[in-house]
Amino acid sequence: MEAYSTICPGCGLGCGLYLLRDSEKGEGGERATGKGMSILHRKQSAVNAGKLCKFGMQLPHFYSRERLRTAVGGKNVSEEEAVKEARERLTTFRREEIAFLAMPSTVTNEEALAFLSLVSELECENFSLGFERFFSVADFGILFGGVPLEEVERAEKVLLFFLDPFVQYPLLARRILRAKQRGARVVDVSFAENERAKGIYDETILAEEIVGDIVRDMLSEGEDLGDVASAVARALVGGGEKLENSLILADLNPLSPTDFISAAISLAEETKSQILFLKPFLNANGANLLSAAMNMRGRDIFEILNDVKEGKIKCLFLLETDLLYDGGGVDGTALENLEFLVVQDAFKSAISEFADITICSEPLFLKKGTVVNVEGRVLSAGGDAQRTVEILERISGAERTYKQVQEEVCKHLGISKLSEYESFVAPASIASGKKSARKVANKEKRRVEAAETSEEGARMDALTQLLWQKTSPFFWHAWQTTRGTKRSEAIVEVSPSLARRLNIFKGEMLEIRRGGESRRVAFRIAEIPSYLMISTDKITKDGILVRVEVEKAK
Ligand code: SF4
Repeated sequence: MEAYSTICPGCGLGCGLYLLRDSEKGEGGERATGKGMSILHRKQSAVNAGKLCKFGMQLPHFYSRERLRTAVGGKNVSEEEAVKEARERLTTFRREEIAFLAMPSTVTNEEALAFLSLVSELECENFSLGFERFFSVADFGILFGGVPLEEVERAEKVLLFFLDPFVQYPLLARRILRAKQRGARVVDVSFAENERAKGIYDETILAEEIVGDIVRDMLSEGEDLGDVASAVARALVGGGEKLENSLILADLNPLSPTDFISAAISLAEETKSQILFLKPFLNANGANLLSAAMNMRGRDIFEILNDVKEGKIKCLFLLETDLLYDGGGVDGTALENLEFLVVQDAFKSAISEFADITICSEPLFLKKGTVVNVEGRVLSAGGDAQRTVEILERISGAERTYKQVQEEVCKHLGISKLSEYESFVAPASIASGKKSARKVANKEKRRVEAAETSEEGARMDALTQLLWQKTSPFFWHAWQTTRGTKRSEAIVEVSPSLARRLNIFKGEMLEIRRGGESRRVAFRIAEIPSYLMISTDKITKDGILVRVEVEKAK
């Protein structure tokens, strides 16, 4: 039996745990991962004191996925051959024809640095770590600086800005509860009352109560979450002292509209509050801070994917990223014009099936390396494998040792000592003051005074609804299982009035359509606004708050 002190890659909190597994090897000499694996709670973990959410508890299943083969053109080859072939082929493309993508979930800082060095070696500007779009909205310190979770517990006022911690960041909810027990005032700004938080939230400010006209416009004109957030933020700023000096908690993910992020930051500035952006990818802070420290600014991932679709980018290198699942809004047609695809990953994925070269790397718990969680805390991945870094170093031709790469990481991130209890990043590039965030976009000049969303208003188009996808850790990862079995059914919450208008009854199904695609889903009745449907499952990949057509399934 082997024991690993590792971290959960399910979200940016990075909860600590022990993974125990049999030391048996698989048929190809590859160590099996998920099989014979179990979890032990690591009570001394600085982030979560041993507690794990549903995603963390299912990590043995997460690690049970089929490992990726190392292959060229579908034929198994040695790692050396695959690396050589990848390097040779990458250099045959012009730099503007290549793109590199890495969603920093299981990618350690050391791997991110080696990955960025490869990008730099090929003088390529088409690279993304998933968050580049937001660089125009705020500086790195605000987006990726982090706030220790102890400060959530010590806060006198906590303001949740369209964030449901119980679903999106479950171990954060415990911190909020503790803040509440210490006397904090907890205010939720949302579309709907949070049933799970009864007795915890002192107040829920509903978007429709303060910007009802904009919410209704969303149904007919396709406005997005950013527009609502901007209007809500402006309305809240005038709310006197009650929100001043809060700790604002908001979500930052690749699907967040920039106006949403801008609105959250402006609200923080205007109310003299601190803001903590939660992220769904474990090492989003570390990888993005590294790119800033290396003076490398990538491009918006969706712009890059558009260039792929249009055939301007012909070669794609994906590091531990399943675009068909993780990236949001990507389908197979986006890859039709691609000439060459390299996938480096630990596990087989939907997109690795299309790859010309696949290179097998190690799962997170076997890796030697560090990550930086949403707090800015430096955590160790837990294993001793350096293979992923070495592969990237060989492809780029840099050929540094793992030790050299790690020293560079520490230099860039200002890490002097590796201890999860004491080590927080302090990169030189973000230590010197925060730039003022851009003011909330003032593009719509609508009224923001209170307006009622009446049943009549919702009836304008009974089958057009807003779907709010509360993105749980399962939303973002190329794996969705419940006790190891594939979950094919999704559930949405609907209001009693919508159920009546659709004439649906218990046991029946709904059909939800968006952008030419449709999906059958189960439903449950909940006390939510009549214009809204809420799901914690992934119904569509292209947005968090989207307009959909809904009807009773035939
Ligand atoms: S998904 Fe997030 S909250 Fe859940 S155990 Fe993993 S790191 Fe913790």
